[in-house]
Amino acid sequence: MKRAQSPPGAVAAQGQTMSDSEPRSPARAEGSPAGRPDAAIQGGVLETRDLVVRYGDTAAIKGVSLAIPERSITAIIGPSGCGKSTLLRTLNRMNDFIPSVSIGGRIYYRGLDLYRPDVDPVEVRRRIGMVFQKPNPFPKSIYRNVAWGPQINGLDANLPELVERSLRKAALWEEVKDRLHDPATSLSGGQQQRLCIARALAMEPEVILMDEPCSALDPVSTAHIEDLMFELKERYTIVIVTHNMQQAARVSDHTAFLEAGELIEFGDTNRIFTKPEVARTEEYVTGRFG
Ligand code: ADP
Repeated sequence: MKRAQSPPGAVAAQGQTMSDSEPRSPARAEGSPAGRPDAAIQGGVLETRDLVVRYGDTAAIKGVSLAIPERSITAIIGPSGCGKSTLLRTLNRMNDFIPSVSIGGRIYYRGLDLYRPDVDPVEVRRRIGMVFQKPNPFPKSIYRNVAWGPQINGLDANLPELVERSLRKAALWEEVKDRLHDPATSLSGGQQQRLCIARALAMEPEVILMDEPCSALDPVSTAHIEDLMFELKERYTIVIVTHNMQQAARVSDHTAFLEAGELIEFGDTNRIFTKPEVARTEEYVTGRFG
């Protein structure tokens, strides 16, 4: 397997943002910065270092190092099958559910190695929530969809208040406050997706991962979700996988371009879309391939 070269904007592997109480000196912390990292993306809430993800013998992610900046939106773009979802799912250990997956390299969440044996993956997914491509509410009421996670995790001191707050943050409260006990499936697709966002927010995460969250939605519902993302980034770190480059350009602050499991370029979204440093990025964002 070809060793991926560090692309422009990839994080310099220096552990500069680790704020974990436990001193960490990652095994792979040595390395020289490549390219010219944009100022805003040096360091991050989540960092991958030389990340390799394999399905069986086949590597889907081939040595990716990047840092996800705090309280902003990072888009992961690239052709179908390039590894966007695989990369996203490693960030909260969702790939643990796929038996053939093996992980190499490191992923740090505020300095903590997420794959360390004593790390509880359930706690990881509470702090780093996920919203999927198709809205997937539980076959329960609107209220129970939001209340269920906090309840089983002991975060239910004032459940009605938490449910309302989460639905408000997801810009859904006004539409559902009089029908909280109706089935979630009675909501429109766009409302269901906002309900899934409320469900993630009810767990009081710090990071929200979104895997093509609008691809099953109509343009009006898509606009709702994009507006919501804009509001949420004030308080949360968002990582979105999207095949829609207009969406990436509209909503994200930073963009990572992947191709065939390698990080080709990572940087401020405006720069990536207007002055990319790598020819492949330019070809992709201008629609000349992919
Ligand atoms: P993208 O999100 O960019 O479309 P994926 O992360 O879904 O890409 O897939 C990257 C590569 O990994 C593809 O070659 C895909 O076929 C493969 N892959 C994805 N999921 C699995 C899986 N569960 N088992 C085996 N291979 C998979």
